[in-house]
Amino acid sequence: MGLRIYNTLSRRKEAFEPLVPGEVSIYLCGPTVYKESHIGHLVGPIIFDAFKRYLEKCKGFKVKLVVNITDVEDKLISQAKVEGVAIDDLAERITQMYFDSLRELGAFECVDEFPRATGNIAEIIKIVQGLVDKGLAYVVDSDVYFEVAKFDGYGKLSGRKLEDQLAGTRQLQGKAKSPGDFALWKESKEDEPGWDSPWGRGRPGWHIECSAMSMKYLGQTIDIHGGGRDLIFPHHENEIAQSEAYTGKPFVRYWMHNGLTRISTKAAGGAWQKMSKSVGNIMPISEALSEYDGETVRFFVLNTHYRRPIPYSNEGLANAAKALGLFRALFSVVEHMTSKDPYNLAKPAEKPPPELSDFGKKCLEHKQRFLEHLDDDFNTAGAIGVLFDLVRKTRNLAAQSVVTDQGLLWATSLIIYLGKLLGLFQSRPVAAKTIDQVDGKLIEQLIEQRNAARKQKDFATADSIRHNLSHMGITLEDLPGGKTIWHEKQQSMEGEDA
Ligand SMILES: [Zn+2]
Repeated sequence: MGLRIYNTLSRRKEAFEPLVPGEVSIYLCGPTVYKESHIGHLVGPIIFDAFKRYLEKCKGFKVKLVVNITDVEDKLISQAKVEGVAIDDLAERITQMYFDSLRELGAFECVDEFPRATGNIAEIIKIVQGLVDKGLAYVVDSDVYFEVAKFDGYGKLSGRKLEDQLAGTRQLQGKAKSPGDFALWKESKEDEPGWDSPWGRGRPGWHIECSAMSMKYLGQTIDIHGGGRDLIFPHHENEIAQSEAYTGKPFVRYWMHNGLTRISTKAAGGAWQKMSKSVGNIMPISEALSEYDGETVRFFVLNTHYRRPIPYSNEGLANAAKALGLFRALFSVVEHMTSKDPYNLAKPAEKPPPELSDFGKKCLEHKQRFLEHLDDDFNTAGAIGVLFDLVRKTRNLAAQSVVTDQGLLWATSLIIYLGKLLGLFQSRPVAAKTIDQVDGKLIEQLIEQRNAARKQKDFATADSIRHNLSHMGITLEDLPGGKTIWHEKQQSMEGEDA
């Protein structure tokens, strides 16, 4: 089965075929850099980073991913005033914070370009002028507005009809002649950032920035445009109108919109609310990243299908950390048993080693199911569910004394390989506190095996199990009466700062 993705424009899943065979262009709306990002701003980059890896590593496409930075906008101007700083300085500081968060989440490297609106003013003016020349935009004093009534397909993405808007209570924007008409260019006051243009000194509207950057970096028709659901209207609707009116070509072939982050708050009586700066319930990403590593946050996000709302809570993140801990525990057990670094294992051979027999076959079925989930509208939650099952089974395998290193390494390399398609398990976790992450069940299993070995007077096996556990930071204590208890070795404080 080939990849199918849900296209917001057609409201159904479609077989995915890029415009240029073998190449995929993706544009994702990035942040307005006036305040620190919250987790909702980073959901898109995490999803599209994972999607790009999958398209490249699994489907063999060459993918170009562009994420824009909106560094001229009214909110940025007013925030700079509040803080008493220069607009450029504020934008630069917030942009760097955004990049740092992306790096921690492992979602920075895969973005090919981060164009900034202020670096593309000439391109923006050219499109606005083109729309004025075609009679699709009009000038009022020093402002320019797009006339939505002149674009036939207006509303095709959001399903909103122009008549409804005209009849509704929507207010006129600035000096616009009609509700729904939006600013392509607006006059700047003296203390506001501005550029010379045919209409006087001014700055671009938000919507036109994305059209101009998408066309400049990816071409007039792109394959995929992503963003949060809240951008469908008016932002993406307006992007379509001005772009298609200007080029006469389809702007985007597939629109992919991710669900919004919701947060459960006491203020809202425990109800789930959209996380937004205007509601004032945001959780800055630095807060989440001070407690959890980037891989945990990534795991948390990908564990929900991208089109569904993401229920954000401390408990949710803690559960993600626990779940990810199961994987990390297996990897450290395998490392201790085989002395091989699981994070650097080669891609698993297509065929499992013969000694795995039925288990090997099951692993291949899991791989198949994992890939089918991703082919089905990039269902990462379904795929991760399959990985879970695989990790549980492999953990049980590790607890059996009959398994060979080769067999164990093959099964582990399969888990690592599939996880890497989603940007997981890229490298050893920075805060690799092996002891915390070794789960108790596995230890109990190993103790049982050791006791069984001792009963059979197989002291070599019993000793090697004790030795392996010791490497994992677990000390065994044999109590009178035959019971064995375990505890974590006291860790030295050395290297705590590293
Ligand atoms: Zn945009």
